[in-house]
Amino acid sequence: MKAIISLNSGSSSIKFALFTLDGANNPALSAGGKVERIGIAPSLRVRSADGDILLERVWPDGASLTHAELLKDISAWAAEHLGDREVIAIGHRVVHGGTEFAAPRLVDDAVLDALEKLNPLAPLHQPHNLAAIRAIAQLRPKLLQVACFDTAFHHDKPAVAARLPLPRAFHEQGVRRYGFHGLSYEYIARRLSEIDPVLAAGRVIAAHLGNGASLCAMHAGKSIDSTMGFTALDGLMMGTRCGAIDPGVVLHLQTQLGMSPADIEDLLYRKSGLLGVSGISSDMRTLSASGGPEAEEAIELFCWRAAREAGGLIASLSGLDAFVFTAGIGENHADVRHRICGRLAWAGLRIDEATNRDSALRISTPDSPVAILVIPTDEERMIALHTLQVIRKDPS
Ligand code: ADP
Repeated sequence: MKAIISLNSGSSSIKFALFTLDGANNPALSAGGKVERIGIAPSLRVRSADGDILLERVWPDGASLTHAELLKDISAWAAEHLGDREVIAIGHRVVHGGTEFAAPRLVDDAVLDALEKLNPLAPLHQPHNLAAIRAIAQLRPKLLQVACFDTAFHHDKPAVAARLPLPRAFHEQGVRRYGFHGLSYEYIARRLSEIDPVLAAGRVIAAHLGNGASLCAMHAGKSIDSTMGFTALDGLMMGTRCGAIDPGVVLHLQTQLGMSPADIEDLLYRKSGLLGVSGISSDMRTLSASGGPEAEEAIELFCWRAAREAGGLIASLSGLDAFVFTAGIGENHADVRHRICGRLAWAGLRIDEATNRDSALRISTPDSPVAILVIPTDEERMIALHTLQVIRKDPS
């Protein structure tokens, strides 16, 4: 029996999933885990497909442990867990594929070099995504590695949604709207077509609301617009990212306040959003529990901006048939869903309070013109499916 590993390596966390393949090469989840608080005191928890805890580990004095060292530990545990099942490839989430990478790709040195050039466009993610690929190449030089891009799902959206209103030459140089969270949206599009093919064939907004947050407008399962653009800083307010702000603010920070580019990057990517407005935390659960006026203001701004951006995407879609919530906040936070849907009542979203409280699959009232659903995302499975597809085509 064979196996595939999906890896999503971020700045302070590494998520992974082990899939075994049956005779028809269908991936079945065997275990999934996450290392958190890398750089502070890393902790690892691995669960079986049924949710049972298989492994818990903390490194209280592990502030200096690198991603590469932690990957070595994960890799050793995975080999032990999988026993005689051979790992045939590792698929990685890579946030930015630029103009060049419109589909998942087998990684070699040339691909890695090209992807590294995109590091400045996704400083929170890309360097960590690529460092994991290099670390695995050191550990297992012969193992096939596949890069799966968050931008790829949006690659074929209409030209009008890809262009920024700047002089044409910038577009040619790649300064354009890409869109992110594509692995999550592709999974949601697939699941929706299984759950309700009629809705999936229509006009859908999917809301990926986690630490990173964005909306995607899909028509017949294809992305036609997204709130994220050139970078994953655009669009919605997020845990620590500001989302769309007047570009004049950036000029002001630079010219009037004398902030350096590095300081501005740090402010916009790491100190803004829920964290910046509340002054308390980037974590929605913590803010809801806090109850203070600044936390309330941050939550309200998050929901107001999500509804406002959704209004723009409804215009891109010329109407709306379904709205899907996903990711940490979208899947679990009934009050945030209630607030966003309340602000979109004009567009035909009628939320059912009882099913919303239970985070049920369908949370709209039976007479709601727009169906509202909660669908858990599974980027790791999407990575495994893409990885399989790539190595079947190119089994070098
Ligand atoms: P990431 O983008 O890092 O994958 P997640 O999708 O895990 O993030 O989302 C993290 C966010 O989801 C945090 O703001 C967290 O508070 C929120 N969240 C996670 N679980 C719950 C829950 N049960 N109830 C409310 N909010 C939750």
